[in-house]
Amino acid sequence: MGKPTGFLEIVRRDRTYAPVTQRVLHYDEFVVPLSPDDLKNQGARCMDCGIPYCHAGCPVNNVIPDWNDLVYRDRWHAACDALHATNNFPEFTGRVCPAPCETSCTLNLSDSPVTIRTIECAIVDRGWAEGWLGPHIPRHRSGTRVAVIGSGPAGMACAQQLARAGHSVVVFEKAPRIGGLLRYGIPDFKLNKALIDRRIAQMRAEGVEFRPNTHVGVNCPVDHIQDRFDALVLAGGAEHPRDLTVPGRDLGGIHFAMDYLRQQNHINAGHPVPSDKRILATGKHTVVIGGGDTGSDCVGTAIRQGAASVTQIEIMPKPPEREKKDVTWPDWPLKLRTSSSQEEGCRRDWSVTTKRFSGTDGKVATLHAVRVDNAMREIPGSEFDMPANLVLLAMGFLHPVQEGLLADLGVAVDERRNVKASMDNYQTSQPHIFAAGDMRRGQSLVVWAIREGRQCARAVDAFLMGRSDLPR
Ligand SMILES: Cc1cc2nc3c(=O)[nH]c(=O)nc-3n(C[C@H](O)[C@H](O)[C@H](O)COP(=O)(O)OP(=O)(O)OC[C@H]3O[C@@H](n4cnc5c(N)ncnc54)[C@H](O)[C@@H]3O)c2cc1C
Ligand code: SF4
Repeated sequence: MGKPTGFLEIVRRDRTYAPVTQRVLHYDEFVVPLSPDDLKNQGARCMDCGIPYCHAGCPVNNVIPDWNDLVYRDRWHAACDALHATNNFPEFTGRVCPAPCETSCTLNLSDSPVTIRTIECAIVDRGWAEGWLGPHIPRHRSGTRVAVIGSGPAGMACAQQLARAGHSVVVFEKAPRIGGLLRYGIPDFKLNKALIDRRIAQMRAEGVEFRPNTHVGVNCPVDHIQDRFDALVLAGGAEHPRDLTVPGRDLGGIHFAMDYLRQQNHINAGHPVPSDKRILATGKHTVVIGGGDTGSDCVGTAIRQGAASVTQIEIMPKPPEREKKDVTWPDWPLKLRTSSSQEEGCRRDWSVTTKRFSGTDGKVATLHAVRVDNAMREIPGSEFDMPANLVLLAMGFLHPVQEGLLADLGVAVDERRNVKASMDNYQTSQPHIFAAGDMRRGQSLVVWAIREGRQCARAVDAFLMGRSDLPR
């Protein structure tokens, strides 16, 4: 704690966004970073609490008070080392994490937590700019081979940890490019894809081999992998989306959010989509069903595509503007949050459910809705319609795809149909097969995927070597 009175003297300041009118004209990131002086001051607000609730609130247990102090003291290189002790990819979490650490920060009791995520992001961005983040080449090779199936944040973190422990690691990915939902779900305006490419280059230098366009269980039989590797890590995400089975669902113009988002990310990367397959919001009344991150990303994308209007509906009631701190802190509270995409010009409505769709010439034109009470019972007489030429279903993901990989391997699944494996050893019903990230825990967050990837790597290392020095 560099400045004992920092939290009393300095007010919270955070990154700002470029004005809406400018940022909706492109797909680039639009966050305006803090200056080094501001970052130093914000680091000085940290009280180095005896019980650092931030540290417990962070799924990767980042040693937050340590690097806040190091930034205050202008010891950026040491801060970068401390940050990477617990997180392989802080530039991802520094951009897209909802920052449960800030929710649990003691200063959040007065609504002004330390700007932890901004400091995290500044440290790692500086680390790359200064050239402090080279590959960690292992000194010894173990002679064992591990296949990681899925290249999202869980697969990437697991592969990097295992390679650093000396194992030969091959990452299999069905998509043309590496990164999972970081690459194809989260829009470029939230996460620049060059950041993923930079980590891939680092991992390649550490010995990780990437095999894109390889769909295990489809164009690559599971036996082929089983025969050639000593251990397998299943990190294929939770890709089965929740559908809306109402009349009119089969009309044209109703799509799953990921089919829509993936296309725009492809196009931004210079990979055209055939015009007859293109899903575009341009000039259309666009309705996004589902109020979470995925829905927000659809909103921001539709606005950039020039939608005639964007409406986001949610079946749950509108959350309170403010949480009751004495009841919720340091846990994640239910409260109204407005994403940068929602700020860009979207109408939001809560306690609404979709009854049916109607349209002409096989294309959707109207969404017929009804209001529900807090127990989600329909309120008689509250039916209403809204124009909808494009409907995006962003109601979450149910579980991993069962066909192919999981069915062929025959690993047990839990009652939610996620791969069954405990957080102690990440081992599935077959001892040499492990699972991590959304494929094991269900739809979650990037930071949880990184945590599970890291912990799973340690479990695999211990399984192969009898012990492990990798951190948990
Ligand atoms: C649109 C959207 C926005 C999101 N925004 C945020 C956010 O802002 N912040 C946040 O923290 N979280 C966000 N999330 C959640 C977050 O992206 C996920 O929790 C996280 O990516 C899960 O990581 P993962 O590695 O477990 O799986 P994924 O990222 O889903 O990666 C799994 C990979 O496995 C591959 N795969 C699957 N099966 C096979 C197979 N048989 N063979 C080969 N490859 C296979 C898939 O192609 C995919 O690339 C968002 C999710 C979505 C959908
Ligand atoms: S809880 Fe907040 S003030 Fe306390 S150590 Fe963590 S970041 Fe610093």
